[in-house]
Amino acid sequence: MTGLPNRRLFDEELDLCLGLATDTHQVAILMLGLDGFKRIKDTHGHAAEDKALGEFAKRLTDILRKDGVLARIGGDEFGIVLPNISSLEDPANLARRIVASAADTFATETGAAELGVGIGIAIAPLDGVNPHELVRRAERALYRAQGDGRSRVRFFEPDMDVHVERRVQIERELRSAVAADIIEPHYQPLVSLESNRIIGFEALARWENRTLGNIPPDVFIPIAEETGLIKALGDQLLRRACLDANAWPETFSLAFNISPVQLRDSALGERILSALAQTGFSPRRLEIEITESAFVEKTGVAKAVIDELRQAGVRIALDDFGTGYATLSQLLSFRLDKIKIDRSFVSHLDDSTDSRVIVRAILGLAKGFGLTTTAEGIEDESQLIYLAANGCTEGQGYLFSGAVPAARIPALLNREAGRRAITDDGARSLHAGVDALSS
Ligand code: C2E
Ligand code: CA
Ligand code: CA
Repeated sequence: MTGLPNRRLFDEELDLCLGLATDTHQVAILMLGLDGFKRIKDTHGHAAEDKALGEFAKRLTDILRKDGVLARIGGDEFGIVLPNISSLEDPANLARRIVASAADTFATETGAAELGVGIGIAIAPLDGVNPHELVRRAERALYRAQGDGRSRVRFFEPDMDVHVERRVQIERELRSAVAADIIEPHYQPLVSLESNRIIGFEALARWENRTLGNIPPDVFIPIAEETGLIKALGDQLLRRACLDANAWPETFSLAFNISPVQLRDSALGERILSALAQTGFSPRRLEIEITESAFVEKTGVAKAVIDELRQAGVRIALDDFGTGYATLSQLLSFRLDKIKIDRSFVSHLDDSTDSRVIVRAILGLAKGFGLTTTAEGIEDESQLIYLAANGCTEGQGYLFSGAVPAARIPALLNREAGRRAITDDGARSLHAGVDALSS
């Protein structure tokens, strides 16, 4: 189908090249894994899958020309041997070109399809001279690259062997955690910078594992996405969050994170709305947080899902704003309600003029489009005062509170009420600071 050599030929060529490898004649092994390959089959059918595979093989051949040996190792895995590289830049450059070439869409009978490619690289003799060992190490680097996200490139590093074992373990534990429904949302308050009062909570997934300890969502959400567990996990978390939120004051909103991978599922909107219906939680109180990369995907599925949710009254917040690659026009083609300013800008308000300029620009932009704004990661009073003075409407961060279990929310709200009673008006101290700053 691809007209490429198979694994056996690849191993033979690799043997030959490795026989000649020395410190001055290094050999690079690149392992390529396609992301999104299965999705093409699911959405566009088997023929489209073959066609995309053939097209990808052709692009690879064009890039590589006669520089190295290219083979199809397995279903969606390719291998490249670059004999005699002059520096590590050679395989790195090649990898970059491959990633770029995969970024163009693949034409199929039923519309354009998207693929990403992760790449792991091992170098002989640096990482070994045994062909099996080298392939295995390049594969481990690939595994790590895929764990980092879509279309990443990684060189092998000795400590990856350990990470892979841990990852396999996490994946196994995650499966049973999802089956047992034990990953639960905790809640971080969203505070109005106008009234200095809590107006809602963001649900953040928490997983405490008996043997592995506390595993952060940054680690297990990507694994859930790769394994397809995210569907069940996302449903569980949302259902729980809605039930918990039913106990809060009625004016409080619930913010819930949806990853770009989740948004590739065209049935997502329907599932979210049915979770709302089943738990009796009003769509108007739900705010879905989505990061920029979802807005870059060309398939239109994300847009359809977002439109469907908005129609039902759900609000849409753009999460981690300023860290992605979306252009303004891409963002504006979606209807948004809120922008969340990424923590990285907030944490440098004190020491970086650039961060201050960017934050003010974002706040101005949001205001111009009639959007509310939440600043993330507020850790000290001076950040809070700066943000409030520049028109940011909401804040979130350890200064107010980290994420707490549902059972601790009543105490948190009591504490807030108590503090207000003591200080007469919580907003007053904040606004005194803002006045001092702007005078
Ligand atoms: P995020 O949506 O940007 O969530 C904010 C993260 O910042 C949370 O990390 C929160 O604990 C942390 N944070 C909040 N205030 C502060 C602060 O003042 N200082 C600092 N340094 N950090 C602060 P967490 O809980 O580890 O979540 C990490 C990411 O995992 C989230 O980033 C979100 O992208 C993802 N995530 C969490 N729960 C879910 C979920 O249920 N579904 C999906 N799809 N993603 C989730
Ligand atoms: Ca978020
Ligand atoms: Ca965020």
